[in-house]
Amino acid sequence: MTNEDSNHPTFSSKSEKGITGRKIIYDKDGKPCRACNTLLDFQLVTGKVSDSGPSTGLGKLGSSLGVLGNQTKVNGYAKEDPPDVEQLGRSSWSLLHSIAAAYPVSPNDKQRSEMKQFMTLFSHVYPCWWCAKDFEDFIKKNSPKVGSRDELGLWMCEAHNEVNEKLGKSKFDCSFWKNRWIDGWD
Ligand SMILES: Cc1cc2nc3c(=O)[nH]c(=O)nc-3n(C[C@H](O)[C@H](O)[C@H](O)COP(=O)(O)OP(=O)(O)OC[C@H]3O[C@@H](n4cnc5c(N)ncnc54)[C@H](O)[C@@H]3O)c2cc1C
Repeated sequence: MTNEDSNHPTFSSKSEKGITGRKIIYDKDGKPCRACNTLLDFQLVTGKVSDSGPSTGLGKLGSSLGVLGNQTKVNGYAKEDPPDVEQLGRSSWSLLHSIAAAYPVSPNDKQRSEMKQFMTLFSHVYPCWWCAKDFEDFIKKNSPKVGSRDELGLWMCEAHNEVNEKLGKSKFDCSFWKNRWIDGWD
């Protein structure tokens, strides 16, 4: 793999913190991890935007506009970037909660066993490695509750709250899990 690899473009400095103030996460090979950082921070350490934004004179705002301005088309495709840690996270939680929402009310043995396996495998393959490590640890300490849809939904809500807490966000009230992921609010 070269520095020109699309997942690992050239980067010059090994910054500790990004524009967002978050710690920059690197892969084991020392290159910035695309799925572990915000897009803005990834673009900073790969030299695609600058902290001072000299070309626009708008500083960090200019940098943000650089991200927003990246919407031209190439070969008819919008120049959308691969998901960053937040976009990947939102999509993944949507999938995980929706899977719990579709889980049987009274699952049989096979369905229970498959769901446990799925959660374990998911934690092994999640593309943000430092997120995956913590999710793996959570699963080791809190085995997925697969006895019913309600059980799984609440377990998922608690797993998500563990991450919310880690990121300094407020916890979601799990008594509203069904409104958010099954029934809607009306
Ligand atoms: C397994 C996993 C591990 C992650 N680990 C990290 C990490 O270590 N570091 C990191 O920076 N990011 C991590 N993320 C991403 C992070 O959790 C968020 O997805 C990301 O920060 C975007 O947050 P958000 O505020 O847009 O909403 P999200 O947290 O993505 O939530 C999406 C929506 O889910 C609903 N919701 C929120 N909390 C709950 C809950 N407890 N139960 C049910 N519904 C809820 C809300 O309606 C919310 O708008 C992880 C994601 C996953 C899937």
